[in-house]
Amino acid sequence: ATPASLDFIREMIAADVSAGRNGGQVVTRFPPEPNGYLHIGHAKSICLNFGLSQEYAPNSRCHLRFDDTNPTKEEVEYVDSIQEDVKWLGFDWGTNLFYASDYFEKLYGFAIQLIEKGLAYVDDQTPEQIRETRGTLTAPGTHSPFRDRSAAENKDLFARMRAGEFKNGEKVLRAKIDMASPNMNMRDPIIYRIMHAHHHRTGDAWCIYPMYDYAHPLSDAIESITHSLCTLEFEHHRPLYEWLINNVDGLPGQPYQREFARLNLTYTVMSKRKLLRLVKDGLMNGWDDPRMPTISGIRRRGYTPAAIRTFSKAIGLTKYPSLTELNLLEHYVREDLNKIARRVYAVLRPIKVVLTNYPEGQSENLEVPNNPENEADGKRQVPLSREIYIDADDFMENPIQGFHRLVPGGEVRLKYAFCIICQEVIKDAEGNITELRCTYDDATRHGAKPVGRPKVKGTIHWVSAAHAADVEVRLYDKLFTVEQPDEEAGEDGDFTKFLNPGSLETITAKIEPSILEAQPGSHFQFERVAYFFADPKDSQPGKPVFNRTVQLKDGFVV
Ligand code: ATP
Ligand code: MG
Ligand code: MG
Repeated sequence: ATPASLDFIREMIAADVSAGRNGGQVVTRFPPEPNGYLHIGHAKSICLNFGLSQEYAPNSRCHLRFDDTNPTKEEVEYVDSIQEDVKWLGFDWGTNLFYASDYFEKLYGFAIQLIEKGLAYVDDQTPEQIRETRGTLTAPGTHSPFRDRSAAENKDLFARMRAGEFKNGEKVLRAKIDMASPNMNMRDPIIYRIMHAHHHRTGDAWCIYPMYDYAHPLSDAIESITHSLCTLEFEHHRPLYEWLINNVDGLPGQPYQREFARLNLTYTVMSKRKLLRLVKDGLMNGWDDPRMPTISGIRRRGYTPAAIRTFSKAIGLTKYPSLTELNLLEHYVREDLNKIARRVYAVLRPIKVVLTNYPEGQSENLEVPNNPENEADGKRQVPLSREIYIDADDFMENPIQGFHRLVPGGEVRLKYAFCIICQEVIKDAEGNITELRCTYDDATRHGAKPVGRPKVKGTIHWVSAAHAADVEVRLYDKLFTVEQPDEEAGEDGDFTKFLNPGSLETITAKIEPSILEAQPGSHFQFERVAYFFADPKDSQPGKPVFNRTVQLKDGFVV
């Protein structure tokens, strides 16, 4: 198979394959740390790594590897949610599920190898002292007084670190590289630290844990990964990645690392730390709140895996940081839902309309298509009777110019039914409109346009009052009021002050009765309103709850 479109990563891989590197195999991995839920940014990385594996099948595979080297922040809940999310996106790791913690013994052995080669040493300095002696971008760091310990002493101390003889922070193992390197990551980086903490998989077996920068390249090599693809912030870690691959002997694979720009989206934040804050501070109703940019949040909002995959392909891969418009993501969601969402009638802000010339106590059923975009979805019966609801937005007592819907004395078409004329506006003592009294014209049924009759410009939707169901509807909007809450808040600023107070409005809507059988987790277009998703968590049999997934279009329609 040949890749569909060649971005710089795919070009590089295609060149490797045609040169026969690794026997033409492409082995990638998606390596999340189980310290939070995945977000839409991770989806970009998942679509890339698993996508490459599909493009190069059968000479390929993609591993799901949990980078679980920091026991204090990691939880089984996150491990489970990550697997669910990757599957939901439509990818399959098969038998290739791994944990960096499974390599703790091997990684320990590699550290001993480095000690024996004189390439690692135990440092007794405190983490603060180590930080202070690292130097600056313009000045080299200073050597630790413990830098020249013998291999024998280092081996003994490292074994005693493992045995639990020392407290947290009392000692670390450092790689012995170059304290004058222009790359700060090469100034004798810490590769092991003491942490007396319970690990979600290894329990209390270990009290020393490898640092990410040490565990990651070696885990890649252990799994014979060929291409280790990560985001730009790791570019400065690449020399250390290569140093480890080159200096540790007996590695099964020789991976190399390349970086691409992470996904940044407007009107949201995308770091697990910040998302965790929103959850822990109760600012969101959990990780799967439909306003969250998490995979579980957008799934519950009604985004589809196909839309996310198409979006990922469309944004492509670049070497430079960029900001992607939320609008673009919504565009792909809308495009997919247009094909698959069943249409129903719902009135979000009802005004009652009485059809004064429609016989009292009578009703009829109109046949309407479930999805005009897809005939195979069939038709359904929609009841109509003397009293109906229309949306308050579809009536203007004092119409602005260009308003083509219902106005006093004006005429509008009720979709799939007939035309009505507003004869009278009824108000309560405070002057609020309580009812519109209209007459209908039987000659205009089924879209008929009798000759010589004045033209009717507007068409609106409606529901029969006697048949309508009252249903809870959640209107979701942008999570933040500014495009880049991170940037606007600055490093120490508080991004939560830009949370959109209108990001959730809960209303009771009047909906056609067929909706009561809606299966939780199904997609709908409320005609002329927006796309909605029957909430998989809060919907009850016969009592669905709807989340607004996305507007029909961007901007306002007059
Ligand atoms: P965050 O910085 O959002 O907390 P992370 O990078 O710490 O996330 P990891 O679990 O370490 O999260 O990431 C797993 C993989 O996903 C890494 O390869 C990382 O580069 C990639 N990734 C994370 N965020 C993005 C993003 N916004 N766009 C593309 N890839 C991302
Ligand atoms: Mg991380
Ligand atoms: Mg990160």
